[in-house]
Amino acid sequence: NEKCLEVKNLRTWFHTPEGIVKSVDGISFSIERGKTLALVGESGCGKTITSLSLIKLLPETAELHADSIILNGRDVTNLDKNEARKIRGAEISMIFQEPMTSLNPVYRIERQLGEVFRLHNPGISSAEVKQRSIEILKKVGVPNPEERLKVYPHQLSGGLRQRVMIAISLASNPRMVIADEPTTALDVTIQAQILDLLKQLQKDMNMSILLITHDFGVVSQIADRVAVMYAGRIVEEGKMEDVFTDPWHPYTKLLILSIPGIKVTRGNRLESIQGSVPNPLKFPEGCRFAPRCPYAKDICHKQQPPEIVSGDRRVSCFLRGDQHEG
Ligand code: SF4
Repeated sequence: NEKCLEVKNLRTWFHTPEGIVKSVDGISFSIERGKTLALVGESGCGKTITSLSLIKLLPETAELHADSIILNGRDVTNLDKNEARKIRGAEISMIFQEPMTSLNPVYRIERQLGEVFRLHNPGISSAEVKQRSIEILKKVGVPNPEERLKVYPHQLSGGLRQRVMIAISLASNPRMVIADEPTTALDVTIQAQILDLLKQLQKDMNMSILLITHDFGVVSQIADRVAVMYAGRIVEEGKMEDVFTDPWHPYTKLLILSIPGIKVTRGNRLESIQGSVPNPLKFPEGCRFAPRCPYAKDICHKQQPPEIVSGDRRVSCFLRGDQHEG
């Protein structure tokens, strides 16, 4: 199947007075055309830095290296800022968590949407901008689009704002969208509607989605594949159903068990994952999850677990290695 994005050995480090923070520390993944990969993990695991690395919107202090980043067949590993700006929107676009901070509060929706159409279609007439703006608002389920074009972001409900944000992201007709916690700020009913909308748009436009989330509940509603990130690395990756029904990595298990309302077998209940994400200035020497892992053995504290690949799944954990050997 055609790959929309292929990332090999991405490392994004930050130079700080205290030392080097390895926010993303050697991750590889790919996304097929028209599919969704969810990158899941707690805050601070490196998932948002991964997405900002892909669209080259990192702060000055960041240092990015990768063996390769191929987007829609083009090598974008070493693009400079100007070249990167050109691929943003046209090739890859971003839907942010809180539309209130990414929409401009002082401009009407008409102007914000119009800017995208004008940028990507030089010479387009005002009448056509308006017509396309109405069409795209309809497409993302905004009622009375003509009226809504005239309002400011704060005059819309949270759900409508997120729909407008999605419309702006899609106005450039990108082949790939990064959705960073797209529903976190919304209540559960609206959340489900927005996820349904994304799924529908994905089908209509055959676009690929990289979903960034801490919430396995969201993953189960929309993802085809899931990559679980912990302390700058991917610890497990596979088809959503496989990972969800039979997680191999202890961290994935705990993340799934912490979904509210998930059915757990007796003796398996864990309200939340004990401890916190390790300090990225000094990651543990062995498995980075060892200090929090209920199954940690001696070797886990001394050596990094190897990545074990089995079919279209992979996991980095000594436990899985034992199972294969035995
Ligand atoms: Fe736990 Fe060891 Fe597996 Fe790490 S390698 S997740 S510490 S069992």
